[in-house]
Amino acid sequence: DVRPIARALLSVSDKTGLVAFAERLAAQGVELISTGGTRKALADAGLKVMDVADLTGFPEMMDGRVKTLHPRVHGGILAVRDDAGHRASMSEHGIAPIDLVVVNLYPFEATVARGASYEDCVENIDVGGPAMIRAAAKNHADVAVVVDPASYDLVLAEFAAQGGTTLATRRKLAQLAFARTATYDAAIASWFASVEGTFAPDTRVFGGTLAEALRYGENPHQDAAFYLGSSARAGVATARQLQGKALSYNNLNDTDAAFEAVAEFDPTRTAAVVIVKHANPCGVAEGVNLEEAYRKALACDPTSAFGGIVALNRTLDAEAARAIVEIFTEVIVAPGATEEAVAIVGAKKNLRLLVTGELPDPRAGGLAFKSLAGGFLVQSRDNAVVDDMELKVVTKRAPTNAELADMAFAFRVAKHVKSNAIVYAKDLVTVGIGAGQMSRVDSARIAAAKAREAAVAAGLAAPLTKGSVVASDAFFPFADGLLVAVEAGATAVIQPGGSMRDNEVIAAADEAGLAMVFTGVRHFRH
Ligand code: 5GP
Repeated sequence: DVRPIARALLSVSDKTGLVAFAERLAAQGVELISTGGTRKALADAGLKVMDVADLTGFPEMMDGRVKTLHPRVHGGILAVRDDAGHRASMSEHGIAPIDLVVVNLYPFEATVARGASYEDCVENIDVGGPAMIRAAAKNHADVAVVVDPASYDLVLAEFAAQGGTTLATRRKLAQLAFARTATYDAAIASWFASVEGTFAPDTRVFGGTLAEALRYGENPHQDAAFYLGSSARAGVATARQLQGKALSYNNLNDTDAAFEAVAEFDPTRTAAVVIVKHANPCGVAEGVNLEEAYRKALACDPTSAFGGIVALNRTLDAEAARAIVEIFTEVIVAPGATEEAVAIVGAKKNLRLLVTGELPDPRAGGLAFKSLAGGFLVQSRDNAVVDDMELKVVTKRAPTNAELADMAFAFRVAKHVKSNAIVYAKDLVTVGIGAGQMSRVDSARIAAAKAREAAVAAGLAAPLTKGSVVASDAFFPFADGLLVAVEAGATAVIQPGGSMRDNEVIAAADEAGLAMVFTGVRHFRH
């Protein structure tokens, strides 16, 4: 699968390493073809190089907008070498094969970055360059494409060793080529967006495919659209909406948070429900069935659950549907819904019902993005699952089996609560959730206070945190957060461990007679 290099077309804006690279090719008898500036650079270095204008029979024209857009160029790149029909076309039209395409593009990004005029930016949108890159990358079976001087050495090394390029290398180069044209076009789309102060949702931006232009973003003065990524993961992006009003930006964001959280609960083991408000769970429960799980989840914080998003890990049934429609709910999302359940939800015209077909695997890989000024962050998704963690008992007292079950439950939930996350749980139901505080002590206090409120609302003598377990998404840096949990009545703690003051925290736990386990895994979520 080695393809020799007899002819190379070079057309580069960034001329770094160009002459040295071309010299090595020419020394092996490779015929060079080039566009204006590139040809001049090579000729000045004493290399013999053909002008692309002599190849096409047309001069470069319209300020360089049209240089290489010609069948003698594109036919030479795209022709399938062992296809008789393609070969016949080549001889009929006087097209000679081009085996290596070396193109880097007009510096659009750099032009924008230096604050150039609108016209300047437009003129720096390369047209013929991407066309050649894409043509060569498509025909990687026969042609090698180089879009970056960083790849020159790789090509030269293979060329020296075996007189051509291997298929593996041409594939790798094709991948780099399409990655380059994709980022190039994304930069152009983003520039148009910045010019307008908004973005046109009918374009493909950020590597996604438009699913829907939204009425507005997080706030009414923000523009927004919803894009599908390339991941096949079941979830909100691929869900089917069976009924209800159009989903808003915030609905989509919250529904995603709810469904990702409920997917942590294996439906073959248990029924589970997560209720979300503003991307944080405000009630999570397991139950013998969905209705029971829903009622328990709701009891955790009925005030917050009003207008919430309800996610279920099994097919929505009539009993659960009847319970959910008792209060105002924005969205229900589940892997499926029975006909009867659909009819019950149907009585609430505005309530959206989404079905996803299946529950995604919480252990699946994938990427998560976050935008920041002038760029974005990418990380692999948090696919750590408490069942896979090695729990280490660090206190004198070991947890009971009931405590252990609640610990796993609470830690599973804490993963989906914004940091600093503190989750109290009892009998596989959250009884207090503290989210998004800058101090872990505050999260512990807020969660305990919510539990007290829930107890008052339910007419109970004692807050539900009494006899609960508590989970923390990250280690307790001091004993103070833990002492708040002790005061609230927690008897067991699950946390990653790893603080400089772990010993202090363990001593405080021992003194209070707590059982505490370390997971060794942190679940920050910001
Ligand atoms: P040179 O410096 O050789 O005159 O021009 C090199 C640049 O021209 C490269 O960045 C290449 O991508 C670009 N280019 C090559 N062919 C065409 C074309 O037909 N139209 C446009 N707009 N740019 C081209």
